[in-house]
Amino acid sequence: MNQDRLQQLAQLLFPNELPSSDQLEANYPLRDLSEGARVTRYAPSPTGHMHLGNLFSAFISERTAHTTNGVFYVRIEDTDKKREIEDGVSAILQDLANFGFTVDEGVTGEQEETGIYGPYHQRQRERIYHVYAKELVLQGLAYPCFCTAEHLSELREKQEAKKLTPGYYGEFAACRNLTFEQIKENIEAGLPYVLRLRSPGTGEGKAIFDDMIKGKIEMPENNQDIVLLKSDGIPTYHFAHVVDDHLMRTTHVVRGDEWIASAPIHLQLFKLLGFKAPKYAHIAPLMKEDNGGKRKLSKRKDPEAAVSFYFEQGYPAISVKEYLLTLANSNFEEWRKVNADAPQESFGFNLKKMSASGALVDLVKFNDVSKNVISRMTPQEVTQAVTAWAKEYHPEFYQKLIRNPAFTQGIFSIDRGGPKPRKDLACWNDAVDYTEYFFEAPTSYELPENMQPCDAAAIIGLYQQAYAPGADKDAWFSGLKEICPQLGYCPDVKAYKKDPTAYKGHVGDVSTAIRLAITGRRNTPDLYAIMQLLGIDECQKRFENAVAIFSNM
Ligand code: GLU
Repeated sequence: MNQDRLQQLAQLLFPNELPSSDQLEANYPLRDLSEGARVTRYAPSPTGHMHLGNLFSAFISERTAHTTNGVFYVRIEDTDKKREIEDGVSAILQDLANFGFTVDEGVTGEQEETGIYGPYHQRQRERIYHVYAKELVLQGLAYPCFCTAEHLSELREKQEAKKLTPGYYGEFAACRNLTFEQIKENIEAGLPYVLRLRSPGTGEGKAIFDDMIKGKIEMPENNQDIVLLKSDGIPTYHFAHVVDDHLMRTTHVVRGDEWIASAPIHLQLFKLLGFKAPKYAHIAPLMKEDNGGKRKLSKRKDPEAAVSFYFEQGYPAISVKEYLLTLANSNFEEWRKVNADAPQESFGFNLKKMSASGALVDLVKFNDVSKNVISRMTPQEVTQAVTAWAKEYHPEFYQKLIRNPAFTQGIFSIDRGGPKPRKDLACWNDAVDYTEYFFEAPTSYELPENMQPCDAAAIIGLYQQAYAPGADKDAWFSGLKEICPQLGYCPDVKAYKKDPTAYKGHVGDVSTAIRLAITGRRNTPDLYAIMQLLGIDECQKRFENAVAIFSNM
C-alpha cells in the first residue's frame, strides 16, 4: 500500500484521537538515577496468590534494583480476562507485603497505584498501545487479519502435514495482501479482526542477545506475523511488554525462562519501534528432587510451592528470603558465615552469579536455614512473631501464649541471645511442641533405656528434698553432684568413664531424671532456666507427680 492508503488504513483502524508517540516519550521521561542503577519490575497477571517461583522471580527483580540504588515497581498484566480471579491483585500485593518487599512504585491496590510512569494496570493503557500500533500500521509494519480460528487450524494442519514450520508467516499470511478496499469492506461488514505484525524476518537471520543469567543466546530471528492487538483491541503479552518496559524505562527484565522462546519476537519489536531493548535475565524454574531425579516444583504436587504454606506453618518471611538467597547466589552462604548478624539487604546480590539451570528446593535445607535465622532473633521478636502467627493459625495455642505474656517471653528467652543459641525452631508451628511442657505438666516420660523407673524415682525423690530454688546455676549444679554418691552415681563424668562398672551412672543421668520430671523429655533447653521460669511450686508438683508415676511402674 502506498503512503496515502496506509494513512487511510491507520485512520480506519484507529478513528479516535490519540496522543503522538513524541508526547508519550515526553510523559515518560528518562529516569534520573545514579550510574549503574537498575530499574526492574514484577509483572504478574492477577491470577491470585503467588507460588514460590513467582516469589523467587519477584525477589530477584527486587534485589537487582535495590542493590544498585535502582527502582523496583509492580505492573499488573491484566490483559487476559479469562485467567483473572476476583481480588487477584490484592492477593499478590498482600503476598509481597507479607514478605516485606519494598516496592517503589506501581500498583498498590485493585485500582490504586503510585508513580509517574503509569498507569501500571495494563488494561488502563489501551490508548497507549494503540499509539504504537497505529505507528506500525502507518509504516506498513502491521495489518488487520480477519482469519477465523478454523482457517488458522486448517493452515496449521496443512503445514504440519508438509513438515513446514507452523504459523502465520510469509506466504501463509493471507491477510498480508488484502487491499485497502477489502479491509474496509470487511470492517464495515463487522468482521472481527486482530492486528498483526508484518514481520520483516525471513527466518534466515539470527536473534542474538546476552542474557544476564544464561549468557549469550542465539536463535533464529522471528518471522511470524504475531498478533499485536487482539480482536477487542487489547494487546498481547508481546506487544504490551515491549511498549510498557520501554515507556516505564525498565533496564532489566527479570522473568521466567519460558519466555526465552519469545525473546526474538520482543527484540524485533523493540527494533521496529525504535526502542532500546532492556537487558534480559531469564530465571530457570525451581526444581525438586523426585525419586532420584529432578522435576519442576509443582503447584499441584508440592505443598511448599504455594507461598501460603510458609505462612500457615509460620515460617518467618525473612527465613524464606534467606533461603531464596542461598538458591540465587551460591556465595551467599559463605557471606552469611562471615556476616552472621548482617541484614540480608547488605549482601551484594549479583544476577550474573545465578545458576542457568533450575535451583533445587530442599525443605530439609530450608529448615536448617530457618533455624539459623530464628536463632538470631531476640526473645521479644520471637514472642511477638509466634503470638501473631498463633492468633491467626492456632487459636488454642494463642490462648496459652497470651495468658501470661511475661512467662511466654521467658520461654523464648531460654538459650537465646548467647554466643551459641539453640536451633530448635524452624517455624512457629514448631513452637507448639517446643513450649508444651511449659504450659502443661508432663503426663508421660521419655525414660532412657539405661534407667530403671525406680532409679528415676529415687533420684527425683532425693533431689526434691535437696532442691534449693534460690541457688544460682553453679550452686544448683553442685547440688546435683552432691546427691550423686548417695544414689550410687558418679559426680564426675570423666571419672565415671574410667570405671563405669563401679556406678549406676553419672551426674548427667541424674540431671536427666530431673529433666524428665520437669519436662517429660530427655532433650530440652537449659534445665536450670526452665526450673527458674516454672518456679518452685510448679517444680515441686512435677517432682511429686513423677515420683508417684515412676514408683508405680
Ligand atoms: N505477566 C507475565 C507472567 O506472569 C510476566 C512476564 C514478565 O515478567 O515479563 O508470566
